[in-house]
Amino acid sequence: MAESPQNPVAANLAEVRSRLAQAARDAGRPADSVSLVAVSKTWPAEHIRPALEAGQRVFGENRVQEAQGKWPALCDAFPGVELHLIGPLQTNKVKEAVALFDVIETLDRPRLAEALARQMATTGRRPACLIQVNTGAEPQKAGILPEEADAFIRSCRETWALPVIGLMCIPPAEEDPVPHFTLLRDIAARHGLEVLSMGMSGDYEQAVACGATHVRVGTAVFGGRDYR
Ligand SMILES: *Cc1c(COP(=O)(O)O)cnc(C)c1O
Repeated sequence: MAESPQNPVAANLAEVRSRLAQAARDAGRPADSVSLVAVSKTWPAEHIRPALEAGQRVFGENRVQEAQGKWPALCDAFPGVELHLIGPLQTNKVKEAVALFDVIETLDRPRLAEALARQMATTGRRPACLIQVNTGAEPQKAGILPEEADAFIRSCRETWALPVIGLMCIPPAEEDPVPHFTLLRDIAARHGLEVLSMGMSGDYEQAVACGATHVRVGTAVFGGRDYR
């Protein structure tokens, strides 16, 4: 995609930040209580750079290999980057994911919990983990089913001693997201988990109203993605 002379990313970022702060205030929370995870998947480094130059430091990527290709150099150039893995993690990519990411948002099955625990024990590097819940029980979507979430959360923490800090969900595209956000919040509350990663470009303000601590926003920051 051709870059326009005036890159819109910095302006988009400012707009999203101000709407986020307002949504937090409307919910009776401090304006800075929600972290913006800027979702940079599919975008090349030169399109991400303006966001870094504007001070953004928390980013989300959905593919391990793509992130490995562009982030080490950007992390060197811009200290303090926090990288979140927001896409499905295959067990054969666990080694690379643990080395590169600061937060793994997509812990969703026992075999992955075991593989992550082993890799963390081997390397001593312990990225924080969020458990992805398939709140809509969609067959094609990743995530632990809501009825299996309590047992899975316990086993991740007790059996595997993983650094689980919260939950993540991606509501079904065609549904009102609010019941999904509140379901995630209720599961987290039962386990004393404080981090809730929920809300994307189309619904992040609603997510904040439901208690999101992290919103994952791609299109509203970087523009429409071209998957060709
Ligand atoms: C792509 C993606 C996002 C960002 O979606 P936008 O609608 O572009 O904001 C958020 N979360 C996950 C898991 C994604 O894969």
